[in-house]
Amino acid sequence: DLLANQIAAGEVIERPASVVKELVENAIDANAHQVDVVVDNAGLDLIKVIDNGDGIEEDQVPLAFVRHATSKIENRHDLFKVMTLGFRGEALPSIASVADVTLQTRTKEAENGFTYQVKGGQVIQENPAAGRLGTIVSVRNLFYNTPARLKYLKKPQTELSLIVDVVNHLALAHPERALTLTHNGKTLVKTAGNGDLRQVLAAIYDRKTAEKMVDFAGQSEHFKVSGYLTLPEQTRASRSYLAVLVNHRFVKNFSVSNAIIKGYGSKLMVGRFPIGAVSIELDPLLVDVNVHPQKAEIRLSEQGELTDLLTKVIAERLAEENL
Ligand code: ADP
Ligand code: MG
Repeated sequence: DLLANQIAAGEVIERPASVVKELVENAIDANAHQVDVVVDNAGLDLIKVIDNGDGIEEDQVPLAFVRHATSKIENRHDLFKVMTLGFRGEALPSIASVADVTLQTRTKEAENGFTYQVKGGQVIQENPAAGRLGTIVSVRNLFYNTPARLKYLKKPQTELSLIVDVVNHLALAHPERALTLTHNGKTLVKTAGNGDLRQVLAAIYDRKTAEKMVDFAGQSEHFKVSGYLTLPEQTRASRSYLAVLVNHRFVKNFSVSNAIIKGYGSKLMVGRFPIGAVSIELDPLLVDVNVHPQKAEIRLSEQGELTDLLTKVIAERLAEENL
């Protein structure tokens, strides 16, 4: 079973940033409003995610560490309308197969909290405990038993920047959640959680950049789009500062970002990209989230309708700005 979990971990948990992503997504799925990520040594010494979400009932805690035990889908049909971020029930068992994990949790209804600890693939602690509302998951000694994984990691600075990217993307996708990231005691990301996407952009870039962005919004038969983008005079040489969010998931989709760029027309120099965030909402049935468990790539039905809408809305908004 440990082996099966390690094989799954190979798919889901590539690096410290993957652990952060899975744990924060679990916190968000559990309706946490405040999510604090504490990381030491680029995640190799410690990744701790503290949330004020629903918590886990005592008898459900061991189950959470069993593969395919997800509380999030009732039947196969649900797979096609997943609204929650996780739904495969692989993250916790995968992480616990390649690291030491302690989970502390308490639900609103419970009289006491519960602590569950897995070390070296064995459950070494399973006790009632005092505890705050919500869940804390601490991950230590990541990849201690998979040296090949460890060796494949980039230098700490790079792994840390990938963690920062993950937290930034989650913050952009969830402006209504207050997220923090602290590394070696230093706060690197802090969002207010007041639902204002422009404020999240200000927290990630800087206030001046965010304030100068134009807001836009529009809709078509199947899609609603909105967001904030810099004017053509403030661009970057990489598209990685242009976040695309589909139903509150950060995604990568070339056609979508190309449609945004097309909205700028000749105002944008070749090879330059705006900074900002574009939020797209659609019926979940039109999204295929099953393309790959980890890759942020996504397939959309009616994609032509969406790209036309984005190009048109952005072109019109920029034309307005020039008047
Ligand atoms: P998935 O998210 O795909 O369901 P995970 O392995 O990530 O699978 O988590 C397993 C289960 O553990 C979840 O379905 C959920 O019931 C529970 N869980 C994990 N993390 C949390 C959390 N922070 N708060 C509440 N419940 C959690
Ligand atoms: Mg999950």
